[in-house]
Amino acid sequence: MNILFIAPPAAGKGTFSDLIKNKYGYTHISTGDLLREEVKSGSELGKTLSDKMSKGELISDELIKEILEKKLETINKNKPFIMDGYPRTIEQAKAYEEILEKLNLDLGKVIYLKIDKETGLKRVLGRLTCPKCKKGYNKLTGYNMPKVEWVCDECNVELESRKDDTEEAYNVRYDTYMRETQPLIDYFKNKGNLIEIDSTKDADSTMKEIEQWLV
Ligand code: AMP
Repeated sequence: MNILFIAPPAAGKGTFSDLIKNKYGYTHISTGDLLREEVKSGSELGKTLSDKMSKGELISDELIKEILEKKLETINKNKPFIMDGYPRTIEQAKAYEEILEKLNLDLGKVIYLKIDKETGLKRVLGRLTCPKCKKGYNKLTGYNMPKVEWVCDECNVELESRKDDTEEAYNVRYDTYMRETQPLIDYFKNKGNLIEIDSTKDADSTMKEIEQWLV
């Protein structure tokens, strides 16, 4: 069964996607990761994206749809997938339904990870990610503290902070989430496939709650 995560910034979409991918063999599709890869490539498109992303602003619905559709066309259809970071607007939700129908893929369960703004800020300010394997760590909350300071346990490379993990960009991302993305909660609730999970607790407890739905 496929999973779609909807959540404010730093609620744990990436963390739980990673845990589910490693434990259950899901394919993880993160629109944020796809965009960050484009930025790293140094392309002209990447430069435009970098400017918007570091300010915490959304990328246009058309562009993100094109990037996502290309990605979905290449995935292994025999494996379930986690959609992380898309849709983020009602318009994207409608576009997503069209893409799924066209590619004969299921929406699956929509999981809403609930978190308050203050907890999200603490996570954002401490978040570190491995540039190679994308494993997440947090120096403020103590989640997955690396064995060697700020070096990935798996890849032995230096961990990085995201450019948009500043308090200023977080405030923009949070406000954008409340304005553009939060309406999706009612949108999917009305369709009858929304699961609400409190994501303020420790990762193990939240993961256990999520796992109850992975049947
Ligand atoms: P994330 O990794 O999901 O926090 O996304 C990081 C940034 O990528 C966002 O703040 C946006 O600038 C951009 N982004 C990711 N997904 C989308 C989307 N579905 N629509 C528009 N912009 C997106």
